[in-house]
Amino acid sequence: MTSSTGRSIKAEEPLDREATATDPAVASRGDGERKTETAKRQVVKPLGDVTLLPLRGELAPFGARSDELEALRAGRAAQVHSWELVTAVDGPGTRLSIFFSGCPLRCVFCHNPDTMLAHYGTIRTFEQVTKRLRRYRSIFAASGGGVTFTGGEAMQQLPFIANVTAWCKEQGIHTALDTSGYLGAHARDELLADLDLVLLDVKSGDEETYRRVTSRELAPTIAFGDRLSALGTKIWVRFVLVPGWTDAPENIERVADIAARWSNVVERVEVLPFHQMGREKWSQVRMEYRLGDVEPPTPEATQAAREVFRSRGLQAY
Ligand code: SF4
Repeated sequence: MTSSTGRSIKAEEPLDREATATDPAVASRGDGERKTETAKRQVVKPLGDVTLLPLRGELAPFGARSDELEALRAGRAAQVHSWELVTAVDGPGTRLSIFFSGCPLRCVFCHNPDTMLAHYGTIRTFEQVTKRLRRYRSIFAASGGGVTFTGGEAMQQLPFIANVTAWCKEQGIHTALDTSGYLGAHARDELLADLDLVLLDVKSGDEETYRRVTSRELAPTIAFGDRLSALGTKIWVRFVLVPGWTDAPENIERVADIAARWSNVVERVEVLPFHQMGREKWSQVRMEYRLGDVEPPTPEATQAAREVFRSRGLQAY
């Protein structure tokens, strides 16, 4: 989902390997590194495992395709692209970010286009995911972290998200959902009230621009944010600044107005400068990449965009 953004700390976790806090890749992250802006944004996921193979050493979860489909429908399993342990990204503290496969949007600036596609994933069961979460519980507790459901569009697999969220609530594990909100109408109030945080991507404030950059409509995102606001669910708004695409002053003003209408629950706004780190993947998945000539915004332009949000009384980073 915030596949549109990514980050430079790469704590990639192959599907058959666990990253731990003692891994050099995790342990070597100092505060300074964590606080750099790009450190929050630059992960480009590896291409997903296109098979339905189990984790190394585990049995295949389902013998028959019909069992698998039934488990997906019931939320006992999900199509997962990959997962990784990250710090200061995708929510507070150290988090297990679970990247679900499939997305209804087609953002021109998506840096993980393989997560758009449902078949770049592996079936994971509720037991497999909660086992991994249990393993990291002490890290979550020490860092104030938890789990983040991201993608792709995690809300394509709502029954699974609902089951894992309910389990996390029992276990005292913080939950965050990273989403465009496009499928928000399908989420029940009970789930939205259970979530500790929603990272809501507002990709444009102007309807026409939104369609140009995502191929979809803006209205579902606004309606979803309105529901979160009414329910009191905390939001971090995220906006990707793409020169020539989303950086028109009036567009930024509109995104700020949208964020401000949820000011009772918006804890922060993250203005994420566009980068080119995902460009190779577009050719790997044989999709047209339209931003090959686009430069990242200048630091001054990014700061100026943040000021627009601050002018609405919002915390912007
Ligand atoms: S296409 Fe989907 S996964 Fe990629 S940035 Fe857009 S919402 Fe996120």
